[in-house]
Amino acid sequence: MQTTNYRDCPGFGLRLPISDAGDDTRFSASPECQRIYGELTGYTVARNDPDFMHQHLVDAYAAQHANDAQPTIRVAFALVGLYLTFEQGATGKQAQHMHMLLAQRSKQWPRFPRPARTGSLTVLDVMNAAPGPARDAALLDWARSVWEAWSHERERVKRMIATVMDN
Ligand SMILES: [Zn+2]
Repeated sequence: MQTTNYRDCPGFGLRLPISDAGDDTRFSASPECQRIYGELTGYTVARNDPDFMHQHLVDAYAAQHANDAQPTIRVAFALVGLYLTFEQGATGKQAQHMHMLLAQRSKQWPRFPRPARTGSLTVLDVMNAAPGPARDAALLDWARSVWEAWSHERERVKRMIATVMDN
């Protein structure tokens, strides 16, 4: 009799059957969850849309799978992208541009401690939506849920951007 073993992704407890997918230590994420992220990366890159929705995928995944041991730039930049997108109406392209400007101006980033919950949706919700407008909308819903879980940091993120850009 075949039994399936499952494991929870530390990012948001997404439970998936254990596979032999390779582990990627950039994130606090299970290999199975990272495989879905990899598939979605292929999807968003292939979309090649002018607004560069791929940036929302990168930022939301990093923020959902934040780990307090990671380099501070990873979460700081993920929160910059989500803040600009959901509080300032930026496109992925504009968020990417801001990342570039910030990286040119500073090498030091504050730590944003991971909250207890990092969203109410997962990459599986995005993957389960039909490719095209439905999946693009699901990606934004998921990314927004991640930002909402971090939105108590809104003022710190805003101030960090202003401080670095004014220097
Ligand atoms: Zn995960």
